[in-house]
Amino acid sequence: MDNYAIAHNFSMLAKLMDIHGENSFKSKSYSIAAYNIEKFTVQLSELPKDKIFSLQGIGDAIGKKIIELLHTGKLNALEELLEKTPPGVMEMLQIKGIGPKKIYAIWKEMEIENIGELLYACHENRLLLYKGFGKKTQDNVIESIEFYEQQQGNYLFASVETLGSELTAYLQNIFSNKKISITGEFIRHAETIAVLEFVIPVSPGKIINTLDKQQEFELLEQNDDYILYGYDEKIKVKLFFTDDRSITEKLFFTSGTPEFKESFVKEFPKFDFEKVDDDQDIFKKLNIQYIPGFLRENGEIIKQAARFSIPHVIMPADIKGLIHCHSNWSDGSNTLEQLADAAIDSHLEYLVISDHSKAADYAKGLSEEKIKAQHELVNELNEKYRPFKIFKSIESDILNDGSLDYSNSVLSSFDLVIASVHSNLKMSEEKAMRRLLKAIENPFTIILGHMTGRLLLSRKGFPVDHKQIIDACAANDVVIELNAHPRRLDMRWQWIEYALSKNVMISINPDAHSIEEFNNTRYGVLSAQKGMLTKKNNLSSFSLPEFEKFLKEVKKRKTSL
Ligand SMILES: [Zn+2]
Ligand SMILES: [Zn+2]
Repeated sequence: MDNYAIAHNFSMLAKLMDIHGENSFKSKSYSIAAYNIEKFTVQLSELPKDKIFSLQGIGDAIGKKIIELLHTGKLNALEELLEKTPPGVMEMLQIKGIGPKKIYAIWKEMEIENIGELLYACHENRLLLYKGFGKKTQDNVIESIEFYEQQQGNYLFASVETLGSELTAYLQNIFSNKKISITGEFIRHAETIAVLEFVIPVSPGKIINTLDKQQEFELLEQNDDYILYGYDEKIKVKLFFTDDRSITEKLFFTSGTPEFKESFVKEFPKFDFEKVDDDQDIFKKLNIQYIPGFLRENGEIIKQAARFSIPHVIMPADIKGLIHCHSNWSDGSNTLEQLADAAIDSHLEYLVISDHSKAADYAKGLSEEKIKAQHELVNELNEKYRPFKIFKSIESDILNDGSLDYSNSVLSSFDLVIASVHSNLKMSEEKAMRRLLKAIENPFTIILGHMTGRLLLSRKGFPVDHKQIIDACAANDVVIELNAHPRRLDMRWQWIEYALSKNVMISINPDAHSIEEFNNTRYGVLSAQKGMLTKKNNLSSFSLPEFEKFLKEVKKRKTSL
């Protein structure tokens, strides 16, 4: 073991001791030792034992640890700490702008265990509530986490959406070819994207020659079908090359999943792609309904297209109100007035303010007194903003035992209650189900918020039996949220079809913590389209009078349940 490796062990030990909040005097002595050891000109492994103890800056305790390392290759104290540290917390050491002492606060005080949760907390301004964390730190953390995640090679759809369009235009331009199209996961609006794929009617030789001169493109792989590049040291770009004659076929097959392709070939084995003009024409010639790219997931959709039973799916413009928004009364960035003004500017008809409830003290959850005060302000604003309307709501924590966060008399003061799990996320399915089912059965619950608590690219979410939850929502007249934050998209679109078959209403909600996040709704709509949600089954597509009528009727039904 060389000095560099020994120093690394001491430096890790010092960092982990700080992360665990241990004696900082001791940890400091280890990090100084690491610094000194790296500078020694002689290799410690070549020195006799007693000589090590006499070196400048090496006392008895550190000397013993060096001997231990040289003998066993390990440091017991370090191994023990490593064992006690979740991998996600270790990963935080990769994030610039937060040292071990801040990681201690993030982990132990904010109960955040991985980078994805940390990024989400930053967007909710949660870091600002803790000593030593200012706006600048928070911004730095956001920037370095986004960078780190990009390095990991997977991206939220929302974060590469613009890049996808820009790259299409760029490739069309440098190859002077308008037929170059984006395809694959991007066309299917996948929640996360690993590779940006294009169909390009250019010969492989010409592609390589041209892109050789472009600094951002690094050639990674080439075969008979495609050329793979790294783009801008970040995302992978796959170019399926083809000739002009086969371009429609190539685009069609690469736009769908392998399962979609297989089913299509099975259904129409003799289909002649050379006789079609474009993508739309394939369906015309087959005399089946058009299947948009975002529905090319499985074979079932081909049968549905043959029956002409694909519905008119919801569109971004069908959203009429913003349900589930946080103001600066809890952890949002904007005032009620700012949110209302922005919603009016966006031609929306109503805004449902659902700040956090009192158990969420990390998010400045509202006390009973604050709720009263907020309701008085909402009444005043509603006078001023009419016909636009702000609804009084709360995102009530579902407590550990499944109950909601306030007394019934407080709960009855809201126009609607959204019930969500925010704490103790590590649960068995049995525990999660008990908690959720009790909340669904609570007559005050109108909407079930982000069903599994997942965060894309970082947290799987707690295990649930989707069917049982949807059945319970059907039985108890509860709307299921499709949380439109591009990092959540929870419930998953794959369950929309089942929910609709049980007559459960879905609500695409932005869970906005700022005006900028109103735009989340768009990603919720794209996700809902994959589940073939229509505007008539989406609560946030209701006009103001329809929404008011819905609330009145659902409350009436619930009291008679
Ligand atoms: Zn929430
Ligand atoms: Zn929320």
